[in-house]
Amino acid sequence: MLNSLLCYLPTKIYMGENILDKLKEFKEYGKNAFLVTGKTFVLKSGLLQKIEGLLHEEGMETHRFCEVEPNPSVETVEKGARVCRDAGCDCIVAIGGGSPLDAAKGIAVLSRNEGGLRDYFGVEKFRNEPLPIIAIPTTAGTGSEVTRYAVITDWQARTKKVVNSYRILPKIAILDSVLTLEMPPSLTAFTGMDAFSHALESYLSIHSNEFTSMLSIDAMKIIIDNLPQVMKKPGNLDLRRNMLFASMVAGITINRTGTIIVHGMGYALTLNYRLLHGESNALLLPVVIKHLSGGYREKLKKLKKIFDDDIWNIILGLNKKTGIPKNLESAGIKKEELEELAQRAMIDCERSLKNIPVKMDVEDFRKIFKQAFYGRY
Ligand code: NDP
Ligand code: MN
Repeated sequence: MLNSLLCYLPTKIYMGENILDKLKEFKEYGKNAFLVTGKTFVLKSGLLQKIEGLLHEEGMETHRFCEVEPNPSVETVEKGARVCRDAGCDCIVAIGGGSPLDAAKGIAVLSRNEGGLRDYFGVEKFRNEPLPIIAIPTTAGTGSEVTRYAVITDWQARTKKVVNSYRILPKIAILDSVLTLEMPPSLTAFTGMDAFSHALESYLSIHSNEFTSMLSIDAMKIIIDNLPQVMKKPGNLDLRRNMLFASMVAGITINRTGTIIVHGMGYALTLNYRLLHGESNALLLPVVIKHLSGGYREKLKKLKKIFDDDIWNIILGLNKKTGIPKNLESAGIKKEELEELAQRAMIDCERSLKNIPVKMDVEDFRKIFKQAFYGRY
């Protein structure tokens, strides 16, 4: 823990209700903003039009790119970068869930660097400073507004790849809890469990330190207290605010530590079986932690003391209260697909296997997927 970087976060974070006017600060960064969004929510809700109005009031020009799909692809990012360059944009406003936020980071890099996105997967691979980004999350889960990761799907390689650089961190993040009020129950549950997964995986990463661990524990506490409640009272702004806050805090933790194998194992479930990102994590999390428990005796003991129960029981309780399927079988996975999932995990966990203190092989992944399939914990 000594001699280690505790935290690096050059993002200015605003949090509150109805605070979109903070956007006006962005005129310091450019004159012609590229607005990167998903396909439906921001348009239907009128949020995009509102943001355009605010930027126009400041004399800024805007261009829309409303084409980002969930789990954004290399092709979408590359198309966005072409449109952004052609429009002569000099800054980016990213609005939506983790998908548009991540796509915006990729677009920011490609707008200032030649070649394709695949040239820039990995750590600090590009030369020129990306376009400045302002990030406005509308889900409370990924924490992408404060992470140095752009998670992009490479369908050629059938996996997710990451552009990883502190230089793609947004200059400003605006966390306005009002924007998360309309999330439907399943999205609230999945994104909330994604944030929980970040906090716990960060805590268990070998790169965690006293600063990130403290934040992880607090983020988990907030989610345990607020997520089941917000399922019952979706219109409660305080609960929404607490979830958005916790997801941002959990994002700060993974920004330093990375995630462990839960995220990597979930890639194939999202890309090949259409489970949503947070749903995959929630289903795998308790089984993975239990499987790895031998390597984490001290940390798990500490968590048990804090939460008054084994952490996998806490997760199972949260899954139940939020309506997450009880096992992979009820989430629609077939038994004959488990072998392929275990094989894929060996590839998809290449990065995250370096973050755990335990060695794993394909047999370990087979066991975990089998247990998650039947829901045997
Ligand atoms: P997405 O951004 O994929 O959005 C999922 C769906 O939610 C979309 O259909 C979107 O609509 C809709 N939506 C967004 N906001 C609202 C709202 N307020 N009300 C109603 N519907 C809404 O979801 P996530 O936020 O879970 O992001 C997941 C992605 O983030 C994955 O690709 C994952 O890999 C990545 N990720 C990135 C991390 C990072 O550090 N960068 C960390 C963890 C995950 P629409 O159709 O309009 O788009
Ligand atoms: Mn995640």
